Amino acid sequence: MEKQHKFSLWYVILGIWVVLIIQNYIASMYAAQVIPYSQFLNFLKASKVTEIAITANQIQGKMKVEGAPDQTQPFKTIRVDPDLSKMLEQYPVSFKGEIESTFLRDLFSWIFPLLLFVGVWYFLMKRMGGQQAGFMTLGKNKAKIYVENELNVTFADVAGVDEAKQELVEVIEFLKTPAKFTEIGGRIPKGILLVGPPGSGKTLLAKAVAGESGVPFFSLSGSEFVEMFVGLGAARVRDLFVQAKAKAPCIIFIDELDALGKARGFGAMGGHDEREQTLNQLLVEMDGFDPKVGVILMAATNRPEILDPALLRPGRFDRHVLVDRPDRIGREQILKVHLKKIKTVPDLDLEKLANMTPGMVGADLANLVNEAALLAVRRDKDVVGMAEFEEAVERIIAGLEKKNRLINASERETVAYHEMGHALVALSLPGTDPVQKISIIPRGIAALGYTMQVPTGDRFLMRKTELQNKVASLLGGRAAEEIVFGDISTGAHNDLARATDITRSMIREYGMSEKLGQVYLAGDKQPLFLGVGPRETGDYSEATSEIIDTEVRDSIRREYERALAILRERKDVLIRGAKLLLEKEKIDGAEILALMAAPAPPDPAAE
Ligand code: ADP
Ligand code: ZN
Repeated sequence: MEKQHKFSLWYVILGIWVVLIIQNYIASMYAAQVIPYSQFLNFLKASKVTEIAITANQIQGKMKVEGAPDQTQPFKTIRVDPDLSKMLEQYPVSFKGEIESTFLRDLFSWIFPLLLFVGVWYFLMKRMGGQQAGFMTLGKNKAKIYVENELNVTFADVAGVDEAKQELVEVIEFLKTPAKFTEIGGRIPKGILLVGPPGSGKTLLAKAVAGESGVPFFSLSGSEFVEMFVGLGAARVRDLFVQAKAKAPCIIFIDELDALGKARGFGAMGGHDEREQTLNQLLVEMDGFDPKVGVILMAATNRPEILDPALLRPGRFDRHVLVDRPDRIGREQILKVHLKKIKTVPDLDLEKLANMTPGMVGADLANLVNEAALLAVRRDKDVVGMAEFEEAVERIIAGLEKKNRLINASERETVAYHEMGHALVALSLPGTDPVQKISIIPRGIAALGYTMQVPTGDRFLMRKTELQNKVASLLGGRAAEEIVFGDISTGAHNDLARATDITRSMIREYGMSEKLGQVYLAGDKQPLFLGVGPRETGDYSEATSEIIDTEVRDSIRREYERALAILRERKDVLIRGAKLLLEKEKIDGAEILALMAAPAPPDPAAE
């Protein structure tokens, strides 16, 4: 509760008090004269009373005015117990009745329930609306709207998203000098939607736009609206726009727009009333404001496909900026930004580091740098070296290293052959990603070991043979187990899932099946409807569906046979490699290549 509101509460109390005093005064002016009961009896006996009205406690009436027999005057008297009054009448005594004051009783009888009610209400508000809910601040929950006036984030802090930056330069120009734009009469964007995976720097980018143009930054998250009281979300949206307009030029940033802006009418229970109301309010506000005031709305989502189409119409979020996962060079630039914050060895190989981290987004890379710095501290080093970065990459990729996790000897052996199988098949086939490292140090829960294959570049096109080779190397783990132990384990379940996934895509999406030919059979992925998960509908017959199934099975079987053949042929390398792995826990690609190049020992059957 702010000071301001406390004041207004006091004004109300003061007002009530003044009114009460005035009322009392007026009442007393016109009120009947109160007389003692004994006097009333005397007047009665003297026939001066003209009329009376009797209630349980008092008698009201009129009596003649002395000296003016035509006029009457109202009077009032409090009744006295009749028996007692009879007795008292015999003596020359003035007596009157008095009504016990019930003021305090009345007060308590309504003040206590009122206090209780207000208390309960306050408590509920506090619980549901967070700490900020106050007495008179209903719907004006400012604390959830974050305003930052002095942002020191600039474009230099956001790396690897040059195209997105390019598109936002114009917005910065506008926010710096809105007048210039309005004079020329150019169309100013109202809503900008930043689309990209989590952690790719959407929030950072929006902040940088505010920082570069030196305007306030209002932010709030779409998911917060969903848990609110009905009507509160809409009120808050209204409030947000009022506040923002007062501070224009400025930026309003809505994170997780999809939580709020899901297509209406979808979802279980036939929609979420509160969300819909809030969304409607947002649409109303967006339509209602003139971009010339200098308010730019930015929003972020990683699921643009589920947004209500109404949000994307012209005049709303009609400008879309893609903030994608960074490519190799982008990753290098992002690493540079974050490396400024720590001390590293001077000859740090950034290019290698960027090569090791495909698929990572900005947030992962920031985490990586931090993790490496922590490792260096733990090792009592003054600067962070490549070894720390390499370990940090491994940690982030496969979860924290669990060196002390106990794993029995036979499991360890199985894992070693399995991983060696992957590596050997991959190294034997052209077009697969080079094997960088094999490890059997257990990490996380599912991954017992891993074979790290690093793509030489970011890929946009894959050839059929490359995909087949990839599937074969995924199956190489299980193939090795079969060859060495004559038995298979559960360790391959993730490999199988990925191999099947790739094969299905090859057949249904890329037209790589000879039997089915160049057709696209994957159908449309339907959005969530009435809570039922994504459905795939394909316009093909049962018969085709059966062919797809057999094609997938056959193709996977063929690749498995191929992996088996390769490993049978290189069984000596497989065994020597696995032994080396068991000994060292970690070996790199070069060591396996050396094993492969070395002539087979004279008697491989001995192993
Ligand atoms: P998003 O909003 O897309 O989920 P954020 O903007 O919150 O991602 O990014 C989280 C953090 O990750 C940032 O604070 C920053 O440290 C780091 N980061 C993400 N993308 C980049 C980038 N392109 N350049 C530099 N740092 C980045
Ligand atoms: Zn495997």
